[in-house]
This record gives sequence, structure tokens and C-alpha cells, in this order.
Amino acid sequence: MKINFVGVGEAFDENHANTCLFIEDASLLIDCGYSAIQRIWKKDIHNKINTIFISHFHADHTFGLPALLLRYREEKRETPLTIISAKGIEKYVRNITELAYPNSIDKLGFKLTFKEIDSDTSLNIESTTLSFAKAEHIDSSFAIRIEKDSKSITYSGDTGYCAKIVELAKDTGILVHEAYTSQKDKEAKELKKHSSFLSCGLCAANSACKSLALVHISRDSGNPRAIKEEVRLAYKGTLTIPDDSEIIEI
Ligand SMILES: [Zn+2]
Ligand SMILES: [Zn+2]
Repeated sequence: MKINFVGVGEAFDENHANTCLFIEDASLLIDCGYSAIQRIWKKDIHNKINTIFISHFHADHTFGLPALLLRYREEKRETPLTIISAKGIEKYVRNITELAYPNSIDKLGFKLTFKEIDSDTSLNIESTTLSFAKAEHIDSSFAIRIEKDSKSITYSGDTGYCAKIVELAKDTGILVHEAYTSQKDKEAKELKKHSSFLSCGLCAANSACKSLALVHISRDSGNPRAIKEEVRLAYKGTLTIPDDSEIIEI
């Protein structure tokens, strides 16, 4: 299985697009923020996407959707598209698309369907199995695990340390985890809904994942060596900080 890192950034990073992943084996896009959308076309993956998973209803994970839908309309897409997310996803996408481009969502020219999930949901798409866990961020937040032929990828979405994600990521091939800030900064700012580098390491160690990739790192987090050193206090497995456009195969 391959992960194509369309973007690896947090909300307001001028150097990285919003965190956005493409899993080609499942024709699955994960998250679609406002600064990731252009790269979907630049990387020429737009015609390979059949399903989009939205990890939660924050703009850096969703506000690319109106542009994506309207560009598909301009390009006369015919292939159906399914958007998977928490309860309320259809209303949310309708609202943001109506604000962006009024009276367009029902005239896209292709079938758009929505699938609401919760922690118990298991879905099969293109011979992959998707399962989910409630994350510690906002009400709509879910992590996702994608499995095919004994290979698996788990993505946390934005979250604080979360035992349910540890369980979801058990023995996973690669855990892609948000790593917002240092433990010191997290404590100083009382950030409960994002992870420190140390808590990513703990989640990785406790899940016994085979490798860990850090994304959504705060734009002022400093050098990667210090970030990795903090993760290493807890996790000794393979560790990477991917760049935009990197592809990792497991
Ligand atoms: Zn968020
Ligand atoms: Zn975010």
C-alpha cells in the first residue's frame, strides 16, 4: 500500500499544504483543506479519487471541498463520489458549498453521496477495509484505519493522546499521527486537543505500530532533530517526518 502525502501542514503554515493523504489502493483521499486542493490537480490524482474521508469539520481539513466539487463539474466528471465522515457531514458540505458557490451542489453532473460513520462502522471499498475510532479533538473527529492484504495504514486526524486510537492502530504498518507541538509547549499552552511529539511517541509505542509518520506539525516547531528526539523518549520504531509530495510504501 502506498501513502501519497499531498500535504503535511497544519492550518496556517506558509511552507506546507494542509495535511491531506491519498491512498491509491483504495482510491481514497483523506481530508481536503483549503491549501491542499491545488496539489490534488498538480499531482494528477484528481481522477483517481472515488471516496473522500473527512477526519473532522475544521476548515484546514474541509474547505477545499467546494473548489474540488466545482472543478469536477467544470471538468465534466461522471464518476460518482462518496464523502465519508461523522454525523452531519452532508449538511456541513452543503453549507460550505452553498456559501462558496450558491446553487451549485445539486447541479454537479455526477452522483455525490454521503456516508455517516461512527466508532462501530466498518466499510469495504475496493478490497480495502476501513474502520474508525473517535479522536480527542472536536465532536466530529474520527481516526481511520485502512487495511488490505494484511497491510494497514492508520491516520489519527487532529487529536490529543487517545486510547481509542492506540487500539485502532494496534500493530498497524504505519501510523500517520498529528504532532502539533513539544510537550513543554503543550503544557504551557494547555493544549488538550492536539498531540505533543512525546504523546505521538507514546501512542506509537502503545499501539506497537511498525512505523510512525508525523504530520500537522506546528509551523513554529523548530528543527526536526529536536522533534524526533522527543518522540524517541517513547518510541524506538521507524520514524519519519514526510514532506509534501512524499510517497511512502509499506
Ligand atoms: Zn482540527
Ligand atoms: Zn487541523
